[in-house]
Amino acid sequence: MRTAALLAAAIVLVACKVPESSSSAAASTAADPLLAARCAQLADRALADNHAIEILKGLVTAAPKRLSGSPGYNDAVQWGLATMREIGLENIRAEPCMVPCWVRGEERAEVVGAGAMPLRVCALGGSIATPEHGIEAEVIEVRTFEQLQELGEKARGKIVFFNRPMPRILRRTGQAYGEAVPQRSNGAIEAGKVGAIGAIVRSMTTTIDEYPHTGAMHYDEAVTKVPAAAVATVDAEALSAQLKLGPVRVHLVLGCQTHPDVPGANVVGELRGSERPDEVVVIGGHLDAWDLGRGAHDDGTGIAHVLEAVRLLKACGVRPKRTIRVVLFANEENGLRGALAYAETHKDEMSLHKAAIETDGGGFSPQGFSTSLRDAEAEAVRKLFLPLQDLGAGAFAAGAGAGGADIGPLHKAGVPCFGLWVDGQRYFDYHHTAADDLPMVNERELALGAAVIAYAASVLANR
Ligand SMILES: [Zn+2]
Repeated sequence: MRTAALLAAAIVLVACKVPESSSSAAASTAADPLLAARCAQLADRALADNHAIEILKGLVTAAPKRLSGSPGYNDAVQWGLATMREIGLENIRAEPCMVPCWVRGEERAEVVGAGAMPLRVCALGGSIATPEHGIEAEVIEVRTFEQLQELGEKARGKIVFFNRPMPRILRRTGQAYGEAVPQRSNGAIEAGKVGAIGAIVRSMTTTIDEYPHTGAMHYDEAVTKVPAAAVATVDAEALSAQLKLGPVRVHLVLGCQTHPDVPGANVVGELRGSERPDEVVVIGGHLDAWDLGRGAHDDGTGIAHVLEAVRLLKACGVRPKRTIRVVLFANEENGLRGALAYAETHKDEMSLHKAAIETDGGGFSPQGFSTSLRDAEAEAVRKLFLPLQDLGAGAFAAGAGAGGADIGPLHKAGVPCFGLWVDGQRYFDYHHTAADDLPMVNERELALGAAVIAYAASVLANR
């Protein structure tokens, strides 16, 4: 009974979290034959040419390490400009913005004393360094911030171990990430508030794996800053098991440094509209990536999606009425400066932004879109997107927010926003790790994602 009640409660919880959605099964009308033909043409061409994977290979080869503020990011900008020229986009430019410059250093940790074992850790992005020889202290494990606050004085001088797994019950891994990620983004602040000297956070992944997952974290200027690291889930489990037997001391060394901001840039290019070129539909992903891997899924595939989308439209002779503007955003991972700079640079033309699509969920099989639109506006677009059902991408979730961090400022400014939904069950196996590399990307899934973006962008630009 208890299990059943918990399950029922969880189902209700999930039901509440899922945006109001009109599933493909609820489709009330057949797809427009001309639109269906265009959708099929784009998908066939995407699969036949198989060019999206070539774009991705180009990016991860030209700029394998491209965290904002690094020399590699500048390589990515140059690659973006060159690739847009190759595809034949118009109005190609780098739009400058200042970006943070955080540099990873030495990083290691181990359990010391009885039960000594190494812990696979990496600094969280933005963390301060430990003193040169590290910090060593007893570890206290918590699953919630409330639990930490209740410990109060007992946490003083300790290293806080945030060990809340991403909840399994949620069907969308992105939701599970959202539930667990505050311990990564704000764990150091909460640890600092109770007088702890460091934070170790269970990696954000649905698997038990052997490599740490990095990601952004923040400090509060009013709270003492403490160093923060992510630990591989297999080591988090082992550490937790040891803590059940008695006190455990951990030694942590982090050598990361934050330098002054440096110049960065968004890369922008356009497929100019045939009738209303001043009105734009933005399609974008983020050009920066965490430094541990080559950022193939996050967000190399998003970059490949949007560049291949415009190449496909050109190859298929589709020139929509409004301009499709490709934006390769800077600094999504650790500052969002590119997104803010884009919104600021283009603030006087916000009313000319008719829609924005972001793809930042990995290069997996496309499933459809979430949109900020609601009611009749959402329904009108849902009908236009019906041909996507043939590609398995007919899901359509209305009233679901911005659809991506980079277009968040556009959403705030009232621009209708869309996020590409993909099958994200394996996304967090690779997310923000050394394993996020080319072999994890399936070229057919990637190609279909590009076709879906091409179709959606063309339809929105023709409305
Ligand atoms: Zn991303």
